[in-house]
Amino acid sequence: MKKRGLGTVCIQGGYEPKKGEARILPIYQSTTFKYDTSEQMARLFDLEDSGYFYSRLQNPTCDAVAAKICELEGGVGAILTSSGQAASFLAVFNLCGAGDHIVSSAAIYGGTSNLFTVTLRKLGIEVTLVDPDASAEELSAAFRPNTKALFAETLSNPTMEVLDIEKFAEVAHEHGVPLIVDNTFATPVNCRPFEWGADIVTHSTTKYMDGHAMTVGGCIVDSGNFDWMAHKDKFPGLTTPDESYHGLVYAESFGRSAYIMKATAQLMRDLGTCQSPQNAFLLNVGLETLHLRMPRHCENALRVAQWLSANPHVAWVNYPGLAGDKYYERAKKYMPNGTCGVIAFGLEGGREQAIDFMDHLQLGAIVTHVADARTSVLHPASHTHRQLSDEQLMEAGVRPDLIRLSVGIEDAEDILADLDQAMKHVYGG
Ligand SMILES: *Cc1c(COP(=O)(O)O)cnc(C)c1O
Repeated sequence: MKKRGLGTVCIQGGYEPKKGEARILPIYQSTTFKYDTSEQMARLFDLEDSGYFYSRLQNPTCDAVAAKICELEGGVGAILTSSGQAASFLAVFNLCGAGDHIVSSAAIYGGTSNLFTVTLRKLGIEVTLVDPDASAEELSAAFRPNTKALFAETLSNPTMEVLDIEKFAEVAHEHGVPLIVDNTFATPVNCRPFEWGADIVTHSTTKYMDGHAMTVGGCIVDSGNFDWMAHKDKFPGLTTPDESYHGLVYAESFGRSAYIMKATAQLMRDLGTCQSPQNAFLLNVGLETLHLRMPRHCENALRVAQWLSANPHVAWVNYPGLAGDKYYERAKKYMPNGTCGVIAFGLEGGREQAIDFMDHLQLGAIVTHVADARTSVLHPASHTHRQLSDEQLMEAGVRPDLIRLSVGIEDAEDILADLDQAMKHVYGG
């Protein structure tokens, strides 16, 4: 079949009703599924047959939504997870264990940074953080013989750096490991990392995919392109027998789907970070308009970024869609149709003015969330990153004066008027 357009996939992907079946994806609100014989069930437990048996591992509603995201990204397999955090954790933990090492861009979401530098370390997995703009040689120097993956965000939250995906993929592949990218902010509507060499994509579906701040969720998509057997010794979890499935070898039994099969059959089984069918249903409703919402987010954000950069009280603006931005050219290459609705900027004065400005917004709300239909703001130094000293903030690339503005899809004039009145409160005039 001809590859369908992204809009068609947003609407129709993942679920094709047969004669007389529900037109809309049903919510399979069932923990379990019925079989006629004990033998039929046994074959499922041995992964000899495919089929549903328990919703912790797989559920038809969740699978349909995962299939939609999979088609949007151009992968061979995908699973939904309970959150973006769970997606990042499973994506990495599916490849490594105690005694292993990963390399990650330092420009990543605060939650991912905690996961990597605190929790993974407790599990015996070492992490080296690298500057995403490091040269290929510098990047390469971070690798060790026990390195199992390279991780980065296509558009970093909250610093809005654009990843050079090709460079990262090249270095990862030179070292015989896959590149995992978190594509949450760009979404597959604006960037498809597999086309640039990434091997695995993760998402916090909580953000633009859901789009309405209704449900926390995540997704992992596998391109199917990484050859596990070519690096047999590095990835024993995929290339040697899994005794919990009678000695099955994922890479042999499932070929290009090995990675997702292992994540589902082994990690979901044992860790249980599954998405509920209710949440998957709501996520699917969000996905149906992703291709319409993203361009509007970008259009509004560009107008806001232009307005901010022309305002004398604005010290700096990071928005890769803005001409003159440090990442403008790279964004044009990887995200020609736009980046997303998130802008990072700083006000003259700094921290105090940032807080004062945010407190006076009326349309824009102060929320922990980002990347949904409603305009919202956050001051990482006071909120998500408040444990860090100013020095530590700078190390994390998060300036103490950084305001993260998530531009929604309201009327741009109203968003600008709101910013303008808050600015007048802070600076007079
Ligand atoms: C929010 C976010 C996450 C974590 O997702 P949750 O759904 O909140 O667990 C991971 N990566 C990025 C880029 C995010 O913005």
